[in-house]
Amino acid sequence: MPEGPEIRRAADHVEKALSGRPVLEISFAFEQLKDYEDVFQGAMVKRVETRGKAMLIRFDQGYTIYSHNQLYGKWYVRNAYNYPKTNRQLRLAIHNEKKSALLYSASDIEVLRDEEVEEHPFIAKVGPDLLNDSIPRKELIDRFKEKRFHRRKWSSLLLDQSFIAGVGNYLRSEILFAANIHPDSRPMDCTEEQLSKAADACIELMWRSYKNKGITNDLELAERLKAEGAKRYEYRHWVFNREGQPCRIDGTEIIKYKAASRRCYYCPTCQPKTSSSQK
Ligand SMILES: [Zn+2]
Repeated sequence: MPEGPEIRRAADHVEKALSGRPVLEISFAFEQLKDYEDVFQGAMVKRVETRGKAMLIRFDQGYTIYSHNQLYGKWYVRNAYNYPKTNRQLRLAIHNEKKSALLYSASDIEVLRDEEVEEHPFIAKVGPDLLNDSIPRKELIDRFKEKRFHRRKWSSLLLDQSFIAGVGNYLRSEILFAANIHPDSRPMDCTEEQLSKAADACIELMWRSYKNKGITNDLELAERLKAEGAKRYEYRHWVFNREGQPCRIDGTEIIKYKAASRRCYYCPTCQPKTSSSQK
């Protein structure tokens, strides 16, 4: 399942394909959106924003197309009217003279007036998107301390899209490893230094993954492993998907267990339990 960095990369492709040229034609698969097709003819895309796993295509005539890929949605960018061979269902097609941006399989597509965007049920509750908004570390630390968050386990918090947008399953394990935090501990169990480290890890790993096609491991180490013949799944992460493998720092066996009903990986040496998180 794509996480924030993957959606941001798709947004970059869509933005590059669509900006600078007026929309020639747009088509929606859903009946309730058909009436909007004319509204977009000749409109220009101003920018493509992301809020976690949601995408907002902003047009210059006051309308925004909201889409959320859920599990199966997939964007393709092609030369104009050049459709990919796929069994997926085409749900939204935006064409200009040069390019087509095509969204397949997604079922969550809406047309909003710009002023309605912030009231949209998903947008209204989603947390900050670290790839879209520049959130200072201090603000993130304050967020960790908020009442509604600080008593919850990191392992469930990080999957909650109202906490930080776009963190999914691999980023959760990777962020906690980089911050030396046990998945069962809570922000309230952490020292100020740990909270600061957690904020840095959230920001850095989101960006590293976005800029390096999903790699969250140390980049030099990943390069070296790759040069030695390691496969992508072997050098991509610190701990995620590495059950039973030695920790890259100290050689301890990586543990896999279920947290918030999804698989979570950690190193018991790098991420020790604090006394209060054992309760
Ligand atoms: Zn370790």
